[in-house]
Amino acid sequence: MELSLNSTFELNNGEEIPIIGLGTYGISGKFASQAVKWALELGYRLIDTATIYGNERVIGKAIKNSNIKREELFITTKVWNTDQGYDKTFEAFETSLKKLNMSYVDLYLIHWPVTGLRGETWRALEKIYEEKRAKVIGVSNFTINHLKELMENSETIPGINQVDFSPFLYQKNLLKFCEQHKIIVEAYSPLTRGRKLDHTKLKTISEKYGKTPAQILLRWGIQQGIIQIPKSGNKQHLQENIDIFNFKLTEKDMEMLNSLNENFRVADNPNIWK
Ligand code: NAP
Repeated sequence: MELSLNSTFELNNGEEIPIIGLGTYGISGKFASQAVKWALELGYRLIDTATIYGNERVIGKAIKNSNIKREELFITTKVWNTDQGYDKTFEAFETSLKKLNMSYVDLYLIHWPVTGLRGETWRALEKIYEEKRAKVIGVSNFTINHLKELMENSETIPGINQVDFSPFLYQKNLLKFCEQHKIIVEAYSPLTRGRKLDHTKLKTISEKYGKTPAQILLRWGIQQGIIQIPKSGNKQHLQENIDIFNFKLTEKDMEMLNSLNENFRVADNPNIWK
């Protein structure tokens, strides 16, 4: 089926998630508010935030002001490392809901696999899910080992694993493992925070399609079933990042992009969490 801005992927509990959304790391105050307003006007329906970003309140307000029905939106937030553990996770979740001014979130994630705490945190997320206060629960920055450990100790398979993912960090084995276990991969920093947009081979492909390097990276991701959450506070970029549905990368070009892997990470390597 042809992909479009309204396309969704089905998660392992039957819920649907938009294939592209707005990342909000590093923007707050009026910049976050403006970015969310523009994104919603342009047709974005997924907004990704986190407690640590410090922008849940302003994002909640911008969403309310949009007058878009809550059920048409897909809102993600995450429990921060220092809030992990069974009881503290509930407190953190309540605080997030209050700040967002919502009665539920669509997706609640464990932000990082904190050693010694992630198991208890996951049990809290399971309870939040049972109580229908999160439509989907998932993890972020989990390696194959972290996922195996979680699944050995729980009946609930995460719906999502949100990880650093781009052709420059092509985590092929992790993607395959997630596919085998019906966990959808969601790419953070899909634009490498802008650091690889000038890469010669990427530029050559972008010229061939008459698209920008950013559009090529996002298209590469969605074409293999990975959700994209590029961040932008710039209206032109917001538009550009969703203008990726009128072309398709050939298999050969997909393979060329796969070959750009150089284990380039924007954030910490999650292997530091044993
Ligand atoms: P990103 O989306 O890869 O890159 C954002 C940067 O690219 C910004 O500087 C933005 O600048 C620029 N940009 C956006 N669109 C562009 C375009 N079309 N052309 C040129 N430059 C463009 O990086 P990210 O913010 O790290 O990742 C995206 C989201 O993932 C975050 O915002 C956050 O929601 C999430 N995330 C999660 C984790 C985690 O641990 N779970 C970690 C990192 C990020 P302008 O604003 O000027 O457009």
